[in-house]
Amino acid sequence: MKISTEINSCAKLVGEEKAIELYAKAGFDAWDFSMFNMCLWDWGNSRPYETDHPLRGADYLKFARRLKQIGLDNGIVCNQSHAPFPVNNPYTQSYLKRAIECTAEAGGEICIIHPANDDTPEKNAEFYHSLLPFAKECGVKIATENMWNWTHKNGLDQAAPAACSDSISFNAHLDAVNDEFLVACLDIGHAEMKGLNTTAPEMIRALGNRLHALHIHDNDKWHDSHEIPFSMSLDWNEIVKALVDIDYKGYFTLECDQYFKNAGYTADNAFEGAKNLASAAKKLAKMFEESKK
Ligand SMILES: [Zn+2]
Repeated sequence: MKISTEINSCAKLVGEEKAIELYAKAGFDAWDFSMFNMCLWDWGNSRPYETDHPLRGADYLKFARRLKQIGLDNGIVCNQSHAPFPVNNPYTQSYLKRAIECTAEAGGEICIIHPANDDTPEKNAEFYHSLLPFAKECGVKIATENMWNWTHKNGLDQAAPAACSDSISFNAHLDAVNDEFLVACLDIGHAEMKGLNTTAPEMIRALGNRLHALHIHDNDKWHDSHEIPFSMSLDWNEIVKALVDIDYKGYFTLECDQYFKNAGYTADNAFEGAKNLASAAKKLAKMFEESKK
């Protein structure tokens, strides 16, 4: 089982180029191209921040090629990417083809594009259909992901259903599109949030061979903590067992994007954080291989 990780949280400390190098040296097989800076969302003002990030500029493909090369020079590949979100606005939508194009340029095979949280499977299918011909031209699959809303009502402070948040909604989204270029990315942490009445093992089994990608992180079975596996409450034995049961063939991709911040890493010791992430991912990969026997 090959291991990968998102690069955004480490890149905040050392930049994308260095993050890929550190992850390669830490023992990852691949890197997940975080593209949030392409259209970084200002939630307060409901529009993207204007930044001079290269993914927003004219030379975005050059930047993707450079990252690919840094990976290859250090012996790792880009396995998947994460497009900007939220997708329910014209600003972000105008960058999604660019995200697919950059995925291909970096050598990635899957671009994770969130569904719109509050849209029906049919409405989201229209959205995915508008991107699929371009994705096919680029040879990149699109993965949809299980989302969540948050409710503060009636004394409740917990997650609430959203697009793909449970097995029925997730499979309904895949059925509505019905195209082999639209696959599933299961966010393991989201599947275990209180209020959704789902578990990651149950969703893994319900998705079966439609599951091509993962966002792996730990939480307290309530909040979306995005922490390093084995540090909080998720039952990794059960999760790995379910992945073995469906004969999962994708990468084990971490999305522990709060880890560097919560643990107080800086540019000077980011490599220690990268090594800890790699050992958690390797432990999961080993559990997977051993439980296959
Ligand atoms: Zn995720």
